[in-house]
Amino acid sequence: MKIIQEAEKMQRQAIRWRMAGEKIAFVPTMGALHEGHASLLRQARHMGNRVVLSIYVNPTQFGKNEDFKKYPRQLKQDLALAKKEKVDAVFAPTSLYFKDDSTFVEETFYSKGRCGAIREGHFRGVTTVVCKLFHIVQPHVAIFGQKDAQQCDVIEQMIRDLYFPIQMVRAPIIRDSNGLALSSRNKYLTSEEYEIAIHLPRILKLASKRTGLSPRQITQLIQKELQKVNGLSVEYVEYVRGGISVAVRVGETRLIDYISIK
Ligand code: AMP
Repeated sequence: MKIIQEAEKMQRQAIRWRMAGEKIAFVPTMGALHEGHASLLRQARHMGNRVVLSIYVNPTQFGKNEDFKKYPRQLKQDLALAKKEKVDAVFAPTSLYFKDDSTFVEETFYSKGRCGAIREGHFRGVTTVVCKLFHIVQPHVAIFGQKDAQQCDVIEQMIRDLYFPIQMVRAPIIRDSNGLALSSRNKYLTSEEYEIAIHLPRILKLASKRTGLSPRQITQLIQKELQKVNGLSVEYVEYVRGGISVAVRVGETRLIDYISIK
């Protein structure tokens, strides 16, 4: 497994693979890898014969008062997981920005609402870094998790609008035994907070099973049930494109989830 830090080196490797007719499948992450990321890597292995994993905590997608500094960083463990999943190259740059960067990429439709309404500039940071990563890694296929449903909508639109010759795959959400969607941020939860957090998947599952309700009624039901949970505050519950996206806070930790209600 190659471990590459320099963008130019990664790009040269990608070009060599492309010239040899290899199909590159790419999984971008911020590290602190878990079984959710591993499932994306397995999907990548299925779709390409060269799997590239990027690990980069992208500063431009964090707001001023967000957790950029304390975001978990555990490269050694991440490399072990990557090796186990037979990744061909891990791209782990120290920075993808210049001191005087003046080019940014912005999607202006799906970036509105949901997390976009609360995390100002977040999706501009995401599209900018993913655009850089696409140019460096030159993938044929890119795999993103449906847990970040809005991010999938935004990236899919960017791929189309900017004519990236990339197939995007939305991978299903991997959950723990209590239904909580795996997330690098779950590490922040105390055991008491964890007990509160698992009400989120419970309520989503319950609501998605209610037949005969309109999407609007299911959204309202989820909102009402979440508001009953002590210690949990609701940021939003929104129906978009056949699914409901939810963001809540438990203590200092922000959790997001998604259910399809098609
Ligand atoms: P992150 O490192 O949190 O930025 O996530 C990197 C990629 O992994 C994104 O496409 C996420 O949507 C995806 N991902 C994170 N958690 C999960 C999960 N529990 N199940 C499936 N995909 C996930």
